[in-house]
Order: sequence, then structure tokens, then C-alpha cells
Amino acid sequence: MVSGSDEHGTPITVTAETTGESPQSVVDRYHRINSDALLALGCAWQPNIDARGIEYGGALFNRTSDPEHKRYVQENFISLMEAGLFEKKTMQQYYEVREDGGRFLPDRYVEGICPNCDSDGARGDQCDECGTTYESHELMQPRSKMNPEAKIEIRDTDHLFYRLDKFQTPLEEHSRNRDPDRKANVRAMTKQWLDMGLRPRAVTRDLDWGISLPMDEDEWHGKCVYVWFEAVQGYYSCARIWSDRIAEGAGHSAGKSAWEKWWRISEEGVEPRHLYFLGKDNIPFHTVIWPAIIMGLNHAAAGKGIDDDTALPGPGDLQIEYNVPAMEYLMLAGGQFSKSRKHAVWLPSFLERFDPDTLRYYLSINMPENHDTDFNWPDFVEKVNNELNGTYGNYINRITSLANRLEGDIPLAQYENGELCNEEMAHLEKIHADIVNSLGLHRYKEALRHVMSAAQFGNQLMQQAAPWTHIKQPNDDEAVGSMAHLAFSWRIARFLAITTQPFLPFSAQRLWEMLGQPGEVSEAAWDSAIDWNVEMTWDRSKSAPLFQRLDLEEILAQETALVEENTNEPKDPGHGVKGSSRKNNGDDKMTEAPEGTTYIDFETFTSVDLRTGTITSVEEHPNADKLIVIGIDDGSPDGRTVCAGLKEYYSQDDLMGMSVVFVANLAPRELRGVLSNGMLLAADDGEGAVRLITVDGSISDGSTVR
Ligand SMILES: [Zn+2]
Repeated sequence: MVSGSDEHGTPITVTAETTGESPQSVVDRYHRINSDALLALGCAWQPNIDARGIEYGGALFNRTSDPEHKRYVQENFISLMEAGLFEKKTMQQYYEVREDGGRFLPDRYVEGICPNCDSDGARGDQCDECGTTYESHELMQPRSKMNPEAKIEIRDTDHLFYRLDKFQTPLEEHSRNRDPDRKANVRAMTKQWLDMGLRPRAVTRDLDWGISLPMDEDEWHGKCVYVWFEAVQGYYSCARIWSDRIAEGAGHSAGKSAWEKWWRISEEGVEPRHLYFLGKDNIPFHTVIWPAIIMGLNHAAAGKGIDDDTALPGPGDLQIEYNVPAMEYLMLAGGQFSKSRKHAVWLPSFLERFDPDTLRYYLSINMPENHDTDFNWPDFVEKVNNELNGTYGNYINRITSLANRLEGDIPLAQYENGELCNEEMAHLEKIHADIVNSLGLHRYKEALRHVMSAAQFGNQLMQQAAPWTHIKQPNDDEAVGSMAHLAFSWRIARFLAITTQPFLPFSAQRLWEMLGQPGEVSEAAWDSAIDWNVEMTWDRSKSAPLFQRLDLEEILAQETALVEENTNEPKDPGHGVKGSSRKNNGDDKMTEAPEGTTYIDFETFTSVDLRTGTITSVEEHPNADKLIVIGIDDGSPDGRTVCAGLKEYYSQDDLMGMSVVFVANLAPRELRGVLSNGMLLAADDGEGAVRLITVDGSISDGSTVR
């Protein structure tokens, strides 16, 4: 298992220039904070070598500023260049003219007025206010963000481009092979990229902070490897560094080449399977770009050149992705998580106050597998109190408190009677198979629900058996069945310790110890959860509640205090987003939303551009019975066309001349052959009445609605 911190790129240099630090000290700080937080959250980055030995692999959370990562990237760069897979092109880039010679400005270093919405503070290549992207020369009144008084101009600059187009055919073949197992979002986004046709993409840029180009010529001075091209190579470099530094470093003779088992298809054709876990914005980098780089390395290693056909990996080659089970987004109270907007759950402070398993439970049961999901504190508290603690924690507490009222070192063992519990065993075996099946399909939420169903099942059994009615005379004849089921609950608890372990490693270990089981639950065999012959054990000294109930009021008070504290700190400019000052400035704090409501923040609201307009034409839609095609004077010279489902509710005459409100920045969409550019606002009572929203009095077309 490999991953790491992506430590190059302009957000880091912008932060460093603003705070006066070196970029290295910025990334050192964040790498430490992040890797500590991941470990504290129970991510399995340690130990680095599997307890069973290096042949089972291991884990490494590395960083792209590692000199060895740089060395592997430079080595790969040279291989690809020598195979003719780069081409040189001239681009145009803003340049800050200075006495000392000046410098090229990456897009994030340029600010100006958006050519689309006229808002100031738009970036070199895109406007955060309206979301438009454009060519840098289209930006109006461009200036250097760091040095606004400096003269800036557009200059030619040479760059190398990777020939992604050479890999179109094998990537299409790969998608045909892998699509049946891909999630819908991964399939769709990959298809979109391939359908557009791959084009060469710049692998170098004018920036100091990054991996320097392995070329001596003067013209490459001051340029580095583009971060998109080298960060993905971290998966490969990380495996090699694990091999060199950890496996070999620990004295394993096979260490040096240990990585190959995980990366190369064997000569006999045994294929390693690579799974990449990421958010949806990164899908094409893992299903298109990174496989194209790997295939380029295979191509180069085989001594092939630019005129030879490229192909999918074969025996001896480096392997490409097997699956990319990408997630949608986790939102915070309706807005996307963002460090800069002080709009985040800050992990280090969370871990100081809560059991990490509570967050792991909430993130797992609320995982954005198929659509965006929302993190909100009331829901967090509800799920922890009612599900994690209410169902699972309380079940375990009932078992331990009843067992501890019985005699003996291993109090439940004497009441065990497997013959009376055959049905229960079969039921748990079924749950176990369901968990395995869901995990295999990357449906983690579903897998965890299966796990939790074992705790529910245990609670029901306990309720039916009512062992508390026999606890004072447990050896009476009529107690046999009830006590056998209480004894069986030890096995259900052990089943829960093993099956919750990947999701809730800390509480799983606590439970493991309460049950008197030796060693680490993480090292117990998965199938041992349904081994009904394991000898019972017990440890009275370890009995304790598995989880604590949470108090919503208290958490909200703490969060509010934290937000206020953060607001007083200087804003992290590296991730600065326009409009951030509007949030959390003390007097407009977000309060808890009523049930059934997800609050959105002000920025989300203003991201919808609502405008006024006058209806100037109304026509039947040529291909759709319910739609009409409406022309609107929106204040622009050409007006706009909107398709609306209003035919049942308005006649053409009613609509003509009406003053309406429409969404101006909805992506244009073709509706049965007519391009619809926006949407009219209308009220719908859900019982058949639909009425348009109109403007009170007169106002010029194109006015903003707020
Ligand atoms: Zn704009």
C-alpha cells in the first residue's frame, strides 16, 4: 500500500512567498501534520513491512520531495524522451519584468479582471467567481499577484509535451476490458476523455519549485517537471523506495527487487492488480494519464520509438490499473471541504477530542460512493449515538456485564452448547459471505452495514433469550437454552471484533482484549470470524464500555469556538478563494439546520447566477410535446434561448412580454435537438399548478437577482 504527500506545484510556492518561508519548510510542516494525523486515525501506514514478511508486502506513506522520488522521475523522463515520446512546442506565458531579470508567472500567479463576468481577482486561466476558464491572454488588466506594481507581458516559452495521443488505441482497448468492473462515474469520465481524443500535454513548466529537468542546455534552465506528470509517478517510486530503503534496509536479501512482484507482469503472465483510491476530480489522471505514462515506460524499455505501435502491458512489463474505485465528494454542510475557507473538520483537533473510530464509522457509513454526501455534526452525533454506540456498543456492554456476574475465569465457556446455535451460526456465515462480496465490489458502506447487522442480530437473540432472567440460577434446567445463547454471544462478539477491524481498528482491538483473545485482532485470519471451534477466553479486567455517547450541544459549542479562533489567524493564501471572508466572520455563523434541511453557505447560493429578462418569442418545440422554446431578452445583444416544460400551463400569448427570472450560468444543454441556455424559475405546488416567477415593476433586462 503506497501513497504520500504531493509536495510540488504553485499552491505551495504561493504560500511560501506570502509567509516568507521556503517551500521546503511549508511542505515539511504539512507532511508531518498529515502523516501524524493519518496514523492517529488508524490508517495502516505502519508497520512498513507486513507482519508475515516482505513477500506479503507492506506500506509506505512517502512524499514527492524525496530525493529518490526525484531520481526515479528523472530516470523515467530520460527514457521517455529518448523513445521520442516528447515533442517540443512554443507556448505563451505571462512574464514579470524586473530589474533582476524577471520570471515567468504560472497561472496562479496572475490576477486580473474576468473576461466573462468582469469580476476582479480572476486567476490567469480561470475565474473562481463565475467558473469560466479561458486562455491567459483573454484576462483583462493582468497583474502579478505577488508583485501587483510590476510590469507584466506575454512572452514565448518552449516546453516539452508528452504524446498522450500515441496511447489512444491501447487505452480504448483497456477501457473496453475494464469497463464492466468500473463504477459508473469512472466509466463515464474516462469515456469523456477518450471521446474527446487525447492530445499532447505539457510536461515541463516555468517554475523553480519542482523536479528539475535532467537536461543541461541553457534553454531548460529555470524549468521543472510539471507536477501532474511526476506526482502520479509517486506510486511507482514509492514501491521502489519501499524496496530499497525498507525491505532491503531491514536486511532482506530479496529486498532490492521486492517491488517487482507488485509491479511487473511475470513472464508466466501472472498479473498484479493495482487499485487506486481517490476522489472524482482525479479519475482521468488514474485511468488515462498514468496508464499512458506506464505504457510509455514499457515502450521505451522495449527499445521502441515514436513510429512503433504502442500496446497494453504484457509479460515482463510494468502493470497498469486494475480498478479505480473513485469516490464522489464529501461536503461539509453543503459546501465542498476546503482548508482555506476555514470550512473543514480539522483532523488533529478532532483526534484530540474524539475516539478516531467515531469518525471512521461516520466516514464509512456515509461514504460518497455513488453521490456526494454531507458531513454535518448533528448527523455525526446521531449515527455515533444510535448506531455505533446504541446498537454495537450497547450489545457488547450487555454481554460483558452479564458474563461478569457469572462465576469462573472464563464465565461463558461452561454454558456453551453449539447444537442449540446451529441456525445462528448459519446466519453469521451468511453475513460473513455478504461482507466479503460487498468488499470485493468496493461497496464499503454496504459491507459495513452487513457488519452492523451482526450486532443487530446479536441484540435480537439476546432479547429473545433473556439470559438476565436466569443469571442467578444459571444451572437450572430451564436456563440451558438461554445461557447457551448468552455463551454464543461471545462468538458473535469475536465475529464483530474481526469484521469491524478494517473499519474500526481501535475499538476492535479493545473488544478483542475484553474477550481475552491474544495478540492483535488485525493479525487474526478473516475467516476465523466464523470458526466456531476457537477456544473461549475472557479477561474481566478489560471490560469497559466500547464507546462514549456524544453530546451535540457540547460539540457545536467547541466547533464554534474553533472556527472563531481560526478566523483570527492569517488566511492561508495558498488556497485562498475569493469570497472566503464572507464566511465565519463571527456574526453570521452557521447554525444547526432543522431535520430534513441541509444548509448551504452564502457562496453556494451566489454561485447560482439569477437574472431578469423579458420573453420576446415563444415557439413550439419541434420534437417534444411538452416543451416550448422561449426567446429571452437578457440584456445581451443576441438574447438567449431556453426550453421550458410550460406548455400545459401557459398559452403562447400569456408568455409573450412577460418579465421573468432565469438561471444564467446553468451549463447549456441540448433538449431534443434544441440548445437550451438557462432555466426559468417557476413555482410548483406539487398538485398540478405551475406559475412563473415574475418581476415586480420594471427593471432592465439582465439585472442580477439576489
Ligand atoms: Zn468570471
